[in-house]
Amino acid sequence: MIYLDYQATTPVASEVAEAMAPWIADKFANPHAPSRWGREAAAAIEVGRDQVQRAIGLPGGRVAFTGNATEALNWALKGTMERSSRKRIVTVATEHAAVLDTCDWLESKGFDVTRLPVGPDGLVSLHDVSNALNEDVAIVAVMLVNNEVGVIQPVGEIAKLAHDVGALMLCDAVQGLGRVDMPEGPDLVALSAHKIHGPKGIGALWMREGAEPEPLIHGGGQEMGLRSGTLSPALCVGFGAAAKLTSERRDADHAHIEQLRSAAITELGPDWTINGSVDRRYHGNLNIRREGLDAARLISDLRDMAFSLGSACASGSGRPSHVLRALGLSDREARSSIRLGFGRYTTEDELVSAVRRIVAAASEQQGLAA
Ligand code: PLP
Repeated sequence: MIYLDYQATTPVASEVAEAMAPWIADKFANPHAPSRWGREAAAAIEVGRDQVQRAIGLPGGRVAFTGNATEALNWALKGTMERSSRKRIVTVATEHAAVLDTCDWLESKGFDVTRLPVGPDGLVSLHDVSNALNEDVAIVAVMLVNNEVGVIQPVGEIAKLAHDVGALMLCDAVQGLGRVDMPEGPDLVALSAHKIHGPKGIGALWMREGAEPEPLIHGGGQEMGLRSGTLSPALCVGFGAAAKLTSERRDADHAHIEQLRSAAITELGPDWTINGSVDRRYHGNLNIRREGLDAARLISDLRDMAFSLGSACASGSGRPSHVLRALGLSDREARSSIRLGFGRYTTEDELVSAVRRIVAAASEQQGLAA
């Protein structure tokens, strides 16, 4: 299989698997137990927490582990609305379902939600953000790197606007951590280990001091009383190892992805259009379309490759991509779009051979259709 679906999930780094192994096999103590073994597990969790905190790179604050980024985003939004006397949320039409569906739910409970549009480049305008803000806004939720099209939102500038009206800034940095600079300004940052070569089943919410949301999950008072439930030392250690590697390999990963992208663009040739901004995007995401292509058929013709129609989070749901629609693409253009996601462990040879086969299959399809 050639794996080109890095936005859906990333391969687990061997260093991560090695770091996790003893915590799965032998070291089974409850990290919240007072025994020597429990304290050893708790110490390993704190090392992982510190590694995640360093990878985020924002000063101060603290990291709480969650089950995934979906939980972190639910917690940030619901827990902030719970503790605030303000009643409004401002977000963007191209956010992940973990934000948009949570906002829908909050709306059904009586809160007001403003969903800002994006331009054809996939970017929200600062003017629109500024116009949407007033002193009734409790929280502004904008992602750093879009999971479908890879565009980078101006999160730092938006945070300043949010703070001007006394609102908190929540950033979904799931696709951005280690790939693009983390802007200063967010009060809450949601992360997921499996997007950075870590294990599935663990995420995190970084919280600036004083911005902690009300707990979503109650029980034993773990995670500073903010998120109850026994932590998994294996998952926390794995997340930490992945975060550390992401920081250490940042420059090398960046250079590798630049090389891969330019090789892919050369092979694609002139028949493909990049969806969303060409300038403000993460280069490990090529969301592209070709006039007249039946992307679903292309994927089923190339079954030994993994790439995506749109968002892997929404795929299988049969829902058309809300992101491509928000960019103003017609249904036909959206159906002609594919997403190639590559990264640290993709080789140039496999990417070039995959792109050649994609181009050949697309041409053949269109030749047959002509
Ligand atoms: N936010 C973004 C931008 C994502 O890409 C994803 C996963 O695809 C999530 C949130 C949800 O992450 P998790 O799988 O950890 O729940």
